[in-house]
Amino acid sequence: MSKSNFYTLPELKYKFKDLEPYISENQLQIHYEKHHQAYVRSANSILEKIDKARKARLDLDMKAVLKELSFNIGGHLLHSLFWQNMAPSKKNNAEPGGVLKELLKKEFGSFERFKQEFAQTALSVEGSGWAALAFCSQTARPINMQIEKHNNNIYPAFSILMVLDVFEHAYYLDYRNDRTKFIEAFWNIVNWEEVEKRFKKAAK
Ligand code: MN
Repeated sequence: MSKSNFYTLPELKYKFKDLEPYISENQLQIHYEKHHQAYVRSANSILEKIDKARKARLDLDMKAVLKELSFNIGGHLLHSLFWQNMAPSKKNNAEPGGVLKELLKKEFGSFERFKQEFAQTALSVEGSGWAALAFCSQTARPINMQIEKHNNNIYPAFSILMVLDVFEHAYYLDYRNDRTKFIEAFWNIVNWEEVEKRFKKAAK
């Protein structure tokens, strides 16, 4: 777990010029020092704002605050993953080895086919965003995904401790369109033991 309660820009494991000629020194430096740094700074300042509001018992515009927060945390987490899943080209193999190679081959048919689908994933992201290779532990399938902007309000790589479905289909028979009533009712049936179990697993 983070010691400081705030985000910090992670150290790069290589120099700005080390990804040349694929990413120039200038491009990488600006991307890391200006853009990534800005997400870290903004995420922290929103967290501070939330801390202050809680202390002063002031209301927060939750929808707006969380949208802004997830945009910046998402940006921070994704960039951190991005820097680490790159390395100077002379150190890299052209293809994954071992179990990852087997996994991709089994799912996509071939490594080439995976690359092609990943490229199409990246190319067709609407507006600004990311392509990601993810793994679903339920189906044991690697799955490509598109992450629009940085988030769509999801924190990539966060462990979810508790969820509440507020699609109307979750409560309309009991509460019609009264979401407030359903949310109130939910507190009576939360399995806190399970939530704590998930927390312990995530905090390890
Ligand atoms: Mn970026």
